Amino acid sequence: MGSLSFLSQHPFQQFKKDRHFYLRYDAFYLAACVGISALMLVTHFPSITAGVEWKPWHFAVGVPVILYFLICAHLWIHNATHGNFPKAINRLVGEVLGVIVFVRYASWDIVHMRHHRFSDDSGKDPHPTYPSYWKSFFHSIVYVERQLQQQYCDVWGDTEENRRYEAFRAKVSYGTNIVLAISWYLFLGPVGFFAFFLPLNIFAAAFVGHFNWSTHNGAAGRDFRPVNLNHGYYWLGNKLFTGIYFHANHHKRPNLFNPARWESKFGPQEPCVDTPREEQAA
Ligand SMILES: [Zn+2]
Ligand SMILES: [Zn+2]
Repeated sequence: MGSLSFLSQHPFQQFKKDRHFYLRYDAFYLAACVGISALMLVTHFPSITAGVEWKPWHFAVGVPVILYFLICAHLWIHNATHGNFPKAINRLVGEVLGVIVFVRYASWDIVHMRHHRFSDDSGKDPHPTYPSYWKSFFHSIVYVERQLQQQYCDVWGDTEENRRYEAFRAKVSYGTNIVLAISWYLFLGPVGFFAFFLPLNIFAAAFVGHFNWSTHNGAAGRDFRPVNLNHGYYWLGNKLFTGIYFHANHHKRPNLFNPARWESKFGPQEPCVDTPREEQAA
C-alpha cells in the first residue's frame, strides 16, 4: 500500500494474487486503530461531542440526517466495489466508507463479488434469501464470515492448513472490529457513539439487508432471483437511493451507479418484475 497505485486496485484482485493479502490488510487496520486510539487517550482528546449540551432537537434532527447518510454509505460502498466512482478516487472512497460502515472495504469487495457469482445459490451466496426477512438477515451475519473463509479456500485450496490459517485471520478481523469500535467511541464520545453511530449503523445494515432480501424476490417466498421493484414504497426508495430496487438491472449491468437509468443508457427497459405481494401470493 506504499505507492499510490493501490488507489486504482480492487481488493478482490489483490486477494486472488496474494494469499496473505487480507490478513495483512486487516492487520494494517488493527495497527492503525490501536495507534489512533492510543493517541486519543495519551493526548486526552475530549471527543468531538464533548461539551455538547444535548437537547431534544439534536436527536430529532440528528437521527434522520445521520441515518440517511449511513444508509448512503452502505449503498455507496457497493458502488465502490463495482468501480463506479472515478478511477482515481474509487479505492479511497471505498476505504473511507468501509471504516464508516465498520466491516471495511476489502471484506465488502470479496464477499460482494462472491454474491454476484453465486447469487441465490443457498450453499455459496454469502447472503442467500429465505422467505423470512429476519431469517435472511440473521443468517447472513454468520454466513458472510463463513463464505469469506470459503472464498479463500476456493482460491488457495481447501486444505487443513488453509482452514486453520483462515480461522486465525478471522480472529484478527474480529479483534480489528473491537479496536475500530473503541476508536469510534473515543472519537465520537458516549452519546455520539451509543445514541447515534452504533444503533443507526445497525439500522442501516438492517435496511440494506431488507433491500437485498426484497430485490432477490424474498416476499414471493420462492423463485429467488434478482428482480426490479418500483411499486409502492419501492418507488420512493428508488427516488431517495439512486434506483437501488432495480436490482435485476444491477445484476446485469453492475457498472450503472443508478440501475434505474437503464433506458437512457441501453435502450428499452428490461421487463420490470414488479408484481405486488398480493398478486404474487395468488
Ligand atoms: Zn444481489
Ligand atoms: Zn453489486
